[in-house]
Amino acid sequence: MKVLKFGGTSVGSAQRMREVAELIYAPQERRIVVLSAMSGTTNTLVEIAGLLYAGDVTAATARTEIMRQGYHMVARELLPEAEAAASAIKDLDVVFRTMFDLTRQPLSGSGERLILAQGELLSTSLFQHYLTRILHRNAVLLPALDFMRLDQNEEPDAAYIREHLAAQLANHPEQTLFITQGYICRNAQGKVDNLKRGGSDYSASLIGEAADAEEIQIWTDIDGLHNNDPRVVEGTYPIRELSFDEAAELAYFGAKILHPSSILPAARHEIPVRLLNTMQPEAPGTLISTRTGNEPIKAVAAKDGLVAIKIKSSRMLLAHGFLHSVFEVFERHRTSIDMITTSEVAVSLTIDDATHLPQILEELRSFGTVEVDENQTIICLVGNLIQETNGAARLVFNALQDVPLRMISYGGSPNNISLLVHTSDKTRALKALNAGLFQRPVLA
Ligand code: ADP
Ligand code: ASP
Ligand code: MG
Repeated sequence: MKVLKFGGTSVGSAQRMREVAELIYAPQERRIVVLSAMSGTTNTLVEIAGLLYAGDVTAATARTEIMRQGYHMVARELLPEAEAAASAIKDLDVVFRTMFDLTRQPLSGSGERLILAQGELLSTSLFQHYLTRILHRNAVLLPALDFMRLDQNEEPDAAYIREHLAAQLANHPEQTLFITQGYICRNAQGKVDNLKRGGSDYSASLIGEAADAEEIQIWTDIDGLHNNDPRVVEGTYPIRELSFDEAAELAYFGAKILHPSSILPAARHEIPVRLLNTMQPEAPGTLISTRTGNEPIKAVAAKDGLVAIKIKSSRMLLAHGFLHSVFEVFERHRTSIDMITTSEVAVSLTIDDATHLPQILEELRSFGTVEVDENQTIICLVGNLIQETNGAARLVFNALQDVPLRMISYGGSPNNISLLVHTSDKTRALKALNAGLFQRPVLA
């Protein structure tokens, strides 16, 4: 079994859907194809939910109607036969009826999550109609809401997913092609939920794990994971091979091409992940596997929205149990720590979820003085870094000599250096690292 995931741009128009249909064609091989919503759709759904929260029912209804007309147009373009188009439009309208129903009542959190789930239902429905009605291919639509599930801790429930996906697949023993929705799932209460923005990558990896896939392919609009953020820096290039650990670090620390958690399920079962380009299918892309290369620094990524907290305490000196007490505060408020550095009298750490910040700060103040810096960015460098002689750290600090560094973390893992900078210095830092690290002959 192979799992192939196509992102929003890859299914963003009738023409793109036709191309995807060709890319997935492999009648001898069992495949599960995971689709995102068409590009722009989830953003529109977020906008509609926002209008409803603001009480602007008229605008929300109008926006939904515009979206409905847009989807009808795509259906007519994708399905030139009148009967096939009419049948697809009938199915699309079931989704839009759900949305119009939701605009008639005050929006709740679960109503909002239901709205956000509609994009993947629309794209998979359209694609399934195209495959079966126009190409006359046999493709089974597996409803993700029947097997993707979160547990009580709002984490994917791997055992449930495995059991329920297997049951679905067992209903079609001869079938080779399956289509399903990325991103959407149910929570522990059985209500419709999602895997957070960009979550279709995570769906693909969870499905790959559950189906014991031999390979997971993430098809997107760029030829693999680049050495630096192509939205910020010019002249980036694709990395051909990454280890699971390296890819997981880059995804978690901001490489938008992958959802932050998406490598973990594949890594647990050592299922190779290939990042491929829908617009350039013959490009080799990036292979993520147990293998790693020897480059001292392979890639850089940046994650915004961090808050740095410094706790200064005279009691820290020689006090065992101090860090334990500090960590307990974060544990109590279910807030994870991304980066940490310590000195004899102070500890600095960062969090990316400031929901419980006021309570956390209040409790931390019982240990000493507390300073908070918002608008921080973690810059994460990944490669084969712990080699006494390669001089990677020197290159990094030389490159960043004009950028103020708030925190530095080195040695936590053999393949990562993390630096904390003010967000206003991010672009400068990424460009300086590009010039200093990647535009010189390979290090000895
Ligand atoms: P999809 O809709 O297919 O999931 P995304 O927009 O989520 O696609 O991810 C692909 C985009 O990620 C690229 O177009 C690129 O702009 C951005 N990106 C950010 N960092 C990187 C990186 N290091 N390598 C490749 N792409 C990156
Ligand atoms: N459609 C969802 C989003 O835009 C999930 C995804 O594309 O991965 O975030
Ligand atoms: Mg994405």
